Amino acid sequence: SEYSREDILRIAESENVRFVRLQFTDILGTIKNVEIPASQLEKALDGEAMFDGSSIEGFVRLEESDMYLKPDLDTWVIFPWEHNGKRIARLICDVYDIDGNPFEGDPRSNLKRVVKEMEEMGYEGMNLGAEPEFFLFKLDRNGNPTTEPSDEGGYFDLAAMDDGEECRREISRTLEEMGFEVEMFHHENAPGQQEISFKYADAVTSSDNLQTFKLVAKTIARRYNLHATFMPKPLYGHPGSGMHYNVSLFRDGQNVFYDENDEFGLSKEMRHFMAGLLLHARGYTAVCNPLVNSYKRLQSGFEAPKYIAWSGRNRSPLLRIPSTRGAATRAEVRSLDPSANPYLATAAILKAGLEGVRNETELDTPVDENIYEMTKKQRDVENIEDLPTTLYTALKALKEDTVIQEALGKHIYKQFYDNKTLEWQMYSSQITEWELDEYLTQH
Ligand code: GLN
Ligand code: MG
Ligand code: MG
Ligand code: MG
Repeated sequence: SEYSREDILRIAESENVRFVRLQFTDILGTIKNVEIPASQLEKALDGEAMFDGSSIEGFVRLEESDMYLKPDLDTWVIFPWEHNGKRIARLICDVYDIDGNPFEGDPRSNLKRVVKEMEEMGYEGMNLGAEPEFFLFKLDRNGNPTTEPSDEGGYFDLAAMDDGEECRREISRTLEEMGFEVEMFHHENAPGQQEISFKYADAVTSSDNLQTFKLVAKTIARRYNLHATFMPKPLYGHPGSGMHYNVSLFRDGQNVFYDENDEFGLSKEMRHFMAGLLLHARGYTAVCNPLVNSYKRLQSGFEAPKYIAWSGRNRSPLLRIPSTRGAATRAEVRSLDPSANPYLATAAILKAGLEGVRNETELDTPVDENIYEMTKKQRDVENIEDLPTTLYTALKALKEDTVIQEALGKHIYKQFYDNKTLEWQMYSSQITEWELDEYLTQH
């Protein structure tokens, strides 16, 4: 590994690090911290840092509330910004129970469990390249986020436009300082909307990177009097934010998705993996699109998928195969959005694909015409199903998909399902602005 325990102690000392954040992620995808003074770092590196898990949403039953944090030494980073003049570092941790077993409610440990299943099938890794999109919105006078895009009216208001651009550059620069390789960072279609893609990595590292990226984007945006949001569809009538996942499997350093003898350059294993992704698409939607708001994005238009199909050519289906071949051969899953817990989403996607490989599930023919222009009847003939259209239907589909439940493990599945069901109930009892406008005077 990159850093030894001694390296970290030495660096912390010489770089004058005052506090270390021991980070982990809860079931809903929120980053949690236990902050320790540098004097406690040695103990923490030995995995002796304890915290009370009962304070964390959906984490533990009361009787087993004491948890240990085991830092992953390779995740050591000193934040390139200071807090009140003090330098702070972080370590991403796995959560263990008091008996020394990985805690079932820890999304990162759970992902490692699914990764192990993949290794047992003879693969050395899944490469994952994510493309999260997000919005930059202005703050109001009191410092609260608005839904006014960073570059709205940019045509007339050059200064405001520069804010968003400058902010984007600073996020990119900060990430590079933290060891990220940023491949591309560009303005997306909606006002204030941005997209970053960073270099692919293994499943766990990519998920860590997504969490770090969100933290950095939010932190830096504040400095520009902006708010970075990963809410999937903040603006009616504009594109929402997706998070495409580009995935491939590796064995002996080779991309097993590539087959030079195949007419399209795609291996059997890739076809089975994709078939698994299609077969379980309804089941993993709640995990990959976990908010009520996620389903306002998964509608016709604005390049978000609504139907379960694949294509080598057009961008409307759930799965697309980018045209590059060789080591870069990959499938692009287009339904995910950046509000997903990356550890859970990655576990679900990986498991769905592996299940296709294990069962040698047959891949349907590609759909190269525009699905949005097909009638329901044509879609039925081609056997094209819809993705769930609400969080409610997505939860129902998850409840019927034991493979995706296994990808989450019992504990996480139950907590996730109960929590999201409550969220749906809370939402559906609201009386919205739209209803009042539509019904109050009409009825
Ligand atoms: N914003 C689109 C979505 O919701 C994606 C646009 C793109 O990257 N082509 O998925
Ligand atoms: Mg992109
Ligand atoms: Mg994009
Ligand atoms: Mg893409």
